[in-house]
Amino acid sequence: MERSFFPKFKIFLCQIINPLKDDKCQWIDGGAVVLLRTQKLSLSGAPSYVFHDKGQEKDILRKYGSKRSLEIIDRKSFTLLPSFFDLHFHWVQDEVRLMPKKSLLEWLSKHTWPYEAKFKSKYFSLRKAKGFSKELLKVGTLGGACYGSLHGHSVDHGIEFFEGDFVLGNVIMTMNSPDYLTQSKENALDLIREKAKIFKSKYALTPRFAPTTHPDVMKKGAFFANRHGCFIQTHLSETKQEIEYVLSLYRQMDGFNKVKSYTEIYQKCGILGPKTIMGHGIYLSEKELKILSKTKAAIAHCPTSNAPVKDKGLGSGLFDFEKAEKAKIKWALGSDIGGGPFLSMFDVINSFVKQNRKKKVWGATFVKGLNRSTLVPANILGIGENTGNIEAGKWANFIFVPSPPKKKGEDVDSFLKRLCSPKGLSRNDYKDLVVETFLKGHSRYSHLN
Ligand SMILES: [Zn+2]
Repeated sequence: MERSFFPKFKIFLCQIINPLKDDKCQWIDGGAVVLLRTQKLSLSGAPSYVFHDKGQEKDILRKYGSKRSLEIIDRKSFTLLPSFFDLHFHWVQDEVRLMPKKSLLEWLSKHTWPYEAKFKSKYFSLRKAKGFSKELLKVGTLGGACYGSLHGHSVDHGIEFFEGDFVLGNVIMTMNSPDYLTQSKENALDLIREKAKIFKSKYALTPRFAPTTHPDVMKKGAFFANRHGCFIQTHLSETKQEIEYVLSLYRQMDGFNKVKSYTEIYQKCGILGPKTIMGHGIYLSEKELKILSKTKAAIAHCPTSNAPVKDKGLGSGLFDFEKAEKAKIKWALGSDIGGGPFLSMFDVINSFVKQNRKKKVWGATFVKGLNRSTLVPANILGIGENTGNIEAGKWANFIFVPSPPKKKGEDVDSFLKRLCSPKGLSRNDYKDLVVETFLKGHSRYSHLN
C-alpha cells in the first residue's frame, strides 16, 4: 500500500547494476540509490520520483541521512536494475506461446490467428489487457513496442492498462489472411487515421507483414504515421520460406515486378525511417542492411522466438548482430510473445548469450544483453533522455532481483550471469525472478512480505 505521505527523498540500500554501454556496466556492491520527489503527479495522484543520486551506502547516508523528509528502505539482499523494455511482442498471443511450433506460417494459421480472432469481443480484449498488464509488471517490463490484434480496441485497452512507456499498434491484414481476420483497405486506413491522430507517438502503424498488408495501405498508412509522429513496426525476413513467399507474391504485383528483396518492398511502400522497428531481420543481404542503415530503421532481435523448436522457438535462425552493427543499424531485444515462449527479458538475455556463444560469437555478453533490453530500446523509442538506466533526473523505473551469493574477484558479466540465470531455476521460473517493480518511484508489483 502506498502511504499518503510522500517523502522528498527515498533511499534504497541495495546492490546496483546500471547499464551504460554494450561493454560497460556500473556495479555498486553495498550501494544506495536516492530518489527525489517531483512536482509531476502520476495517474493515481501521487507525486512521481526521479533518480537523484547513487553511490556507496556510507557516502549516501552521510550526504542525505539528516534530511528531514526522508524514507530509508532496506533491500540489502537484492540488486536494483533499471526496468526492462521489450522491443517486439504481441500482447494478444499470450495463450499461444507454448503451442506446437513446426514452422512460422503453420503456427500462425493454425494457432495464432484463430486465437487473435477472439479479440473481436471488446469484453474479452478488456479482460485480457487487464491480466496482461499485471504480467508485464511481474516480469519488470515497463516499456516497449507491442502488436495488438486486428481490432482497434486491442490498442485502446493496451494503452489504457499497460503501465510505463509502450508503443502499440493494431495489426493490419487486408489480404492473404483468413476471412475472419481480413479487413478492407478502406477500413484499415480509417482505423490507422483514427488511432494515429489520437495516440500520436504512442501509436505504431503495424502491417502484420508484407504478405497480409496491401502495399497501398502501407503507403497511405505511412503518410498518416509520419504526419502524427507515430512509430512503424512490422516483421522482416524471419524465415527463408517466408522470404520466398513474399517475393513470389509481390513480383506479381504492379510496381513490384522487379523487386530484389523483402526490405526493398518495405522501402517502396515508404515505411522505413528513423521511427521504424523491424522484427527479426535474420536473413538480410548486404544491400538490405545498407537500406536499413540509410533509412535509420531499427531491428528488434527476438532470440527465444528464433531459437530451435526444441527450445520452444520457431526454429527460424540466429540474427547476426555483428553484421548489423557493422552496418550501423540500431537493434534491441524483444520477447516476441507468442513466437517467443516466455515474457521475462531475463529469459531473452540468457538465450541471446547462450545461442551466440554456441556459435563462438563472444561479443554476446550479459552486459550487452542488459544494455540492449534497457537503455538501447529506450533510445530507439526516443525516450532515452528520460528513462532506460539509473542516471540522475531519469524516471525512477526499476526492479529488484535477489542478489546471487558473493564470489571473490568476479567481474560484472559473471555476476550478471548468475543474477539472470540462478542455479536450479527453469526457464519458466524466470518470470518470478523480479521481487518488486517500481514505476516513477512507486511500487507497482511486489511479492515481498
Ligand atoms: Zn512478432
